[in-house]
Amino acid sequence: MQLLKDKILTDGRLLDGYVLKVDNFLNHQLDVALLDAMGAEFARRFAGVKVDKILTVEASGIAVAVMAARHFGNVPVVFAKKTESLTLDKDAYESDVYSFTKQKTYRVRVSRRYLSAGEQVLVLDDFLANGHAACGLIDIVRQAGAEVAGVGIVIEKGFQSGRALIEEAGVSRVESLAILKSIAEGKIEFA
Ligand code: 5GP
Repeated sequence: MQLLKDKILTDGRLLDGYVLKVDNFLNHQLDVALLDAMGAEFARRFAGVKVDKILTVEASGIAVAVMAARHFGNVPVVFAKKTESLTLDKDAYESDVYSFTKQKTYRVRVSRRYLSAGEQVLVLDDFLANGHAACGLIDIVRQAGAEVAGVGIVIEKGFQSGRALIEEAGVSRVESLAILKSIAEGKIEFA
């Protein structure tokens, strides 16, 4: 998606050689017009795929998923929670996710009320790196007896193994709006 690639080139900042900071349009401040265009692009790419619900993970996935849902006929958006809280149903699907950027494992949870057997669920997230976050969400969809309609990603780090991990999990439909080939030596290159 050219609009997104242009935005990454003008506003993205590289940290430690392997992390792309996009805080001013995706991860902290939100560019609503761009998010809306991303939602339209996801809908175009997944045209013809039945999507009953969109599943993402807090926090940055929420804006992406909500704007996308507007283009998928206002399907409900469910976001996995990363922290345990009194307000979250005790009866939840859970999956452990290792975060390479945070160097720790966290647990994601979705109340059993909000995913049902037989539903076609589109998994969306902001970044794909090693694929653990996406695979945690795929695991939760399957625990519910629902099906993964596909995985949609805003920015894929194509030099990491995330796509392969998702494909190994049996999901062949992975759509990324921008794929980074390299972010080495302070230079951003797209695939
Ligand atoms: P994975 O589980 O695929 O290794 O990593 C995906 C998650 O890690 C994303 O949801 C995102 O929060 C975070 N992440 C991984 N790499 C980057 C990066 O280069 N920049 C940003 N902003 N987040 C990243």
